[in-house]
Amino acid sequence: MIHVGIGYDVHPLIAGRKLVLGGVEIPHTKGLDGHSDADALMHAICDAVLGTIGAGDIGQFFPNTDPRWKGAPSRIFLEEAARQVKARGGRIVNIDGTLIAQAPKVLPHADAMKINIATALGIPPSKVGIKATTNEHLGFVGREEGIAAMAVASVDLPE
Ligand code: MG
Repeated sequence: MIHVGIGYDVHPLIAGRKLVLGGVEIPHTKGLDGHSDADALMHAICDAVLGTIGAGDIGQFFPNTDPRWKGAPSRIFLEEAARQVKARGGRIVNIDGTLIAQAPKVLPHADAMKINIATALGIPPSKVGIKATTNEHLGFVGREEGIAAMAVASVDLPE
């Protein structure tokens, strides 16, 4: 039976941090601030995958107060989410994500992101959709104060 999960994440953009989205380091004047590498796209996808099995969210599995996850690559969060699905006899069918960033241009990196996300989840890159939009200069995203991401996941689970 197909189950669907949704995820959303946002991190502030600050000077002196690397910008990592979908596991790709993107050249930019600012990067996302957070306890881990602050990869908002991978975090949103992680929550979407966990949502398919009602397993809570990324913060419950990887508390941002735990020094083990300081500066951690978010790939490990996706690997754990995929492990949770597998432990329930499930199979990830597909992932679809949208990045909301005023700058920089992220779409040129979409193929590399797909490969990173697919590898972490153990699915083919063809099962991962990545889209990007600006926020038309509106709000905190439009003022380049942060980057947001949304994702959905579908998982085939035994009844
Ligand atoms: Mg996050």
